[in-house]
Formats: sequence, C-alpha cells, structure tokens
Amino acid sequence: MRMNICGLNRSRVLPEAQANNVKKILPRPLSRVNGWSPPLHSFQAISWATYLVMSIATFGIFIPFLPTSWKYAAYVVMGGLSLFHLVMHLVTTTIDPADNNVRLKKDYSEPVPTFDRSKYAHVIQNQYCHLCEVTVSKKAKHCSSCNKCVSGFDHHCKWLNNCVGSRNYRFFFCSVASAAASLLGTMVILLYIFIQYFVNPDKLRTDPLYKEISPKNTWLLFLPLWPVPVKTPVVFSIAVVVFLLAIASFVLLGHLLFFHIYLIAKNLSTFDYMMKTRFQKKSLPVEKKDLPVRKRGAIPQERSNNLEWSQSSSSDKYEPLSGWQHQAISPRS
Ligand SMILES: [Zn+2]
Ligand SMILES: [Zn+2]
Repeated sequence: MRMNICGLNRSRVLPEAQANNVKKILPRPLSRVNGWSPPLHSFQAISWATYLVMSIATFGIFIPFLPTSWKYAAYVVMGGLSLFHLVMHLVTTTIDPADNNVRLKKDYSEPVPTFDRSKYAHVIQNQYCHLCEVTVSKKAKHCSSCNKCVSGFDHHCKWLNNCVGSRNYRFFFCSVASAAASLLGTMVILLYIFIQYFVNPDKLRTDPLYKEISPKNTWLLFLPLWPVPVKTPVVFSIAVVVFLLAIASFVLLGHLLFFHIYLIAKNLSTFDYMMKTRFQKKSLPVEKKDLPVRKRGAIPQERSNNLEWSQSSSSDKYEPLSGWQHQAISPRS
C-alpha cells in the first residue's frame, strides 16, 4: 500500500474559464455516497484480492500443516481476526462519512455545481460549503474525490474508495489493526512451516490422510475438505509467494497502524498532520532566506497569501483560520 499521505491534490476545482470548457465535454459529477459508489478504484480490487488470497492460503493450505492442537487454536484466532477485519473493512467502506447536513439536506442525485472563483474565494466560507450548498461542521472538509463535505475529515482512502472521517474513523482503525494482526499471524505460521520443513518435515504431515500417501515429497492442499495432492516445489513456491505478499502488506499496514497510533496520541487527523508538515516544509527555506531582512513577527508573503495559517502562541500546533478552504481537497492513503 502506498501511503501517499502527502499526495494533496489542490487542483481538482478548476478555475471558471477552464471549467466552462470541460463542462461541454464532461458531465458534472455527482456526490458519491460511499466506497461502493462509482467510479470504483483499482486499489479496491487489489485490497479485496489480497484479502481473498491470504485467507484461502492461510485457512486452506497453511493451518492444516500445524500440529493437531495448534491447528484448532489457529482456526479460532485467525478465523476471529479475519472475520473481524472483514466486518470492519465492509463497515468503513459502506458508511457515508458525509457531514450531517450534507446527509440530511443534500440531494445526492443532483450534480455538484462548478466552483465559481469570481463569486467566492473559498469552497467553504464561514462553515458554509458553496458546492454542497449547506452549512457544515467546523472540522468538515470538501473532498474532491467524493464531491461532498466529510465530517471530521481525516483522509480519502483509495483502498476503501471512501473518505475516512469522524463517522467511520474507529472502524477504519480497527480494520487496519486487525489486518496487520492477521498478516502477522500468517507470517508466524509460515515461519513455523519453513523451519519444520528443514528440521522435521514429518511434523507437518499430521492429518490422518497422509497415512495413505507414501511419497514424502507429496503434500495435500485444502485439507480436510478437498485434499489436492501436489509436489514439494508447488507448495514451496506458494508458501514463498504468500510470505513475500504478507511481508509487503504487513510493512505497509504496520506503518499505517503506527502512524495512526501516533496521530491519536497527538490528537491530530491525517489532514492536520499533513498540513502541519506541508507548512513546516514550505516555511523553512523562506524563513531562512528572509531571516536577515524580515522584521520580527512578520509573516512570509507565501504563508499569508496562500496557506492562511495561524500559529497558536500557546502550543506548537498550527491551526487553520476559519475560512481557509480555498480549494477542494483529497489527501489520500
Ligand atoms: Zn462541500
Ligand atoms: Zn473522499
């Protein structure tokens, strides 16, 4: 998973002149309800395919290699984690994270109006969204991918094809945590199998059906229901591919999990963090360059014109001013 949390797209709302040209060719977009609303994203298919492959391999191939007593414990623990992740993933994708007023007052079947820069400086002004045409809550942001204001906006997730906001953040966090735990479980099972294969391969042949199979290089997949005999290179290749897939997914999901634990501890959203990082990156070279000539307390031109940030004097947090949202946004994970 590429956590492109810095992939802030600030160019989704076109200037009026450009928008008029595009309007003739493209239909005006509708607001998306949730992760199942069109257009679906290719990353969504990748995440579901990975879940399916990992589940089939773990439950159908690898757990049956474990010793009898461990096998049932693994079915219960891994089954519980996998089912919990499935439910959390489905709930996060299905919840409409839109702001309360958007859900209550906005008609999702109506196309979203084109943002007119000549009329308004910002998409959201004084907590009123000119695109959703409703008053929104303080922490709401207008997502350009979902075409609506999302309450307690955290980020737009391509893997879920949905925004993560205050309405589905807990489910999102549980989904990431359970996926990371499931992957860790699969990796532990695979490590046991690899070690036993070189130390004592007979310990992997605990199923009663192995009594009828004499060649030691023949293994059974999909036990106990649909035993499929295969040779060692086949099962070894599957194990290596699944192990690599599990490591790659675990590194990315583990990173995402620790990032969100850090954000929760700091009481920040992904959006807050990204804005803070972006501001720090942008302001550093300007401040260094301007330092000898800049009067004490002066604000760099770029900062005052474009970002409209205010720095709280009592803390190290940078807080956006109320009417700062001059463009629709969609930071992604
Ligand atoms: Zn809006
Ligand atoms: Zn979104």
